[in-house]
Amino acid sequence: MTTANTLMNDNKTVAQQTSIEYTRQAVMIHAHNKLSAAGFLLEKHLTPRQRFRRAALSWGLMWLLAAASAFIPIAHFLLVPVFAAAGPALAYLRYRQQTITEAVEGQCPSCLQEFRLLLDQRTALPYRDVCPHCDRHIQIKALDHDK
Ligand SMILES: [Zn+2]
Repeated sequence: MTTANTLMNDNKTVAQQTSIEYTRQAVMIHAHNKLSAAGFLLEKHLTPRQRFRRAALSWGLMWLLAAASAFIPIAHFLLVPVFAAAGPALAYLRYRQQTITEAVEGQCPSCLQEFRLLLDQRTALPYRDVCPHCDRHIQIKALDHDK
């Protein structure tokens, strides 16, 4: 019994560890002066359970807003159906999202300093920003991205 419990606990620990999984995707960092450097894009992978939870949360929030807007005179004719429809639509989109982009790390091609830029979770490559050290423009591209 004790051994079985220990085994189950071990399995649980392994599953929890893999539930927060980050991957580093190699990217190229381009600068205005045609120089480029290698970098990494950090992505967090969502488990089906996390995706379901995120989807359920946004669905619930939309329907809460629909219920709340039912008390607004006249505007409720528009707001209630919009929020009611947005619930499942948003939930579907959120459930389909498998990764969250977190940050990009690398060396600035202009000033040669290491940087880490936090990204919005919906950031898609190619992505443009400025170097936090020298304020020069940088563009982050996936390695397989054609010029
Ligand atoms: Zn720089």
